[in-house]
Amino acid sequence: KAYVPGAEPKADMGHLNKELMELVNSLRPKSDERQRQSEALEALRTALTTRWPDCKVHLFGSTANQLSICNNNDIDVCLELPDLPSDSNTKGDIVEELGTLLTEAGMQNVLPLPKARVPVVKFVVGDNGTKVDITVNNILAIVNTKLLADYVSIDERLLQLCYVIKHWAKRRQVNDSYRGTLSSYCYVLMCIHLLQQRQPPILPCLQAIKPPTHFRTVGQWVCDYYDDLEALKGFGEPNKETLAELVWAFFEYWAWKHDYNNAVISVRTGGFLTKSQKEWTRRVGNERHLVCIEDPFELTHDLGRTVDRQTNGVLHKEFERAACVLRDHDNPLEKLMEPYRA
Ligand code: ATP
Ligand code: MG
Repeated sequence: KAYVPGAEPKADMGHLNKELMELVNSLRPKSDERQRQSEALEALRTALTTRWPDCKVHLFGSTANQLSICNNNDIDVCLELPDLPSDSNTKGDIVEELGTLLTEAGMQNVLPLPKARVPVVKFVVGDNGTKVDITVNNILAIVNTKLLADYVSIDERLLQLCYVIKHWAKRRQVNDSYRGTLSSYCYVLMCIHLLQQRQPPILPCLQAIKPPTHFRTVGQWVCDYYDDLEALKGFGEPNKETLAELVWAFFEYWAWKHDYNNAVISVRTGGFLTKSQKEWTRRVGNERHLVCIEDPFELTHDLGRTVDRQTNGVLHKEFERAACVLRDHDNPLEKLMEPYRA
C-alpha cells in the first residue's frame, strides 16, 4: 500500500474516463425530483410569508449550485428576516417558533435544533417527501453558494469531479461532519482548490482577480469577488486533463502529497497557507485543526475542525485506499465505489 513516487494508474485511462462520465450522468437529478423540490419550496414560502410578510426565502446548498446528486433529496433553505438582531440567541428563538409554525402547517418529523452552531429546523414536507433544513439569516451560506455556483459555471470538469468525489464519500461513509468526517461543502472546496492548482490551471481564483465585480459584506466578513463569468469563458481550455486524470490527482494528493502537519488549503488565495499563519497549530476546545481547509469568506472557520484523531485516521486510510485502487487495478471503478462495511 506504500507510496511509490511517480507511479501512475494501471488502468486504461480512456476507458476509466468513459465509465466515470457515465456515472456522472447517472447521478444527475431527474426532473420529477426537481419538480417535487420546487413544489416543496413553494409550499414553504406560502407558510413563511403568511407569518413574516417581508421575509425572503432563499434556496442554497447543492440544489442551488448544481452540485446535488439524485435521490439525495435534501434542500437547504434560508429564511431571511431583514430586521432581526444578529446574535444567535435570537436565531435560536426564531427556530423554536418555526418549529411550531411548521408543525401547524402540516410538515412532518419537525426537529428544531435551536442550540446548534447554526440554528436549524429539519423537517419533511407533508405529502411531498422532500427533506428540508431551514436556517435563519444564514447570509454567508447564500454568498458561498453563489461562489460555488460561479466556479461550477467556469469549467464543467468541476461539477464532474464533485459528483464523483461526493458519491465516493457517501459510499465510503466519510461525508458526515457531525461524525467527524467532512461535509459536502468541504469536499467541493477541496475540488475547487485542486483545479486551481493544475498546470495550466482549470479554475481561476475569483477572490484574487482585481478589481472585484460582486460586492457583499456579511457582518465582519468582506465577501467581494470577481464574477464576470462571460469574461472567463474558456478559462480552463488550455488544460486538457480528463475527469479520470483529475480523480486520480485528487486521491493521490490527499493520500500522499498533502502536508497534514503544516498546510492549509485556501480557495480564497488560490494556494496554500500555513497553520501558523492561521494560528491553527494547536487544539482549542474541540477544534483540533488536523486537516485544515479555510472557508473562503469566514476566515476564522476551518472546515476540517470537526476531524479528530480517530476520524483523521479513517479519512487518511480512505484516501490511500482510493489512490491504491486507482493505481493498482485494471478495472478500478467498482472497487473504488464499493460501499464501506465495518
Ligand atoms: P449535499 O448535496 O450533500 O446536501 P451540499 O452542497 O448541499 O451537499 P452541505 O454540506 O449540505 O452541502 O451544505 C449546504 C450549504 O451550507 C453549503 O453549500 C454551504 O453554503 C453551507 N455550509 C455547509 N457547511 C458549512 C460550513 N461548515 N461553513 C459554512 N457554510 C457551510
Ligand atoms: Mg445540502
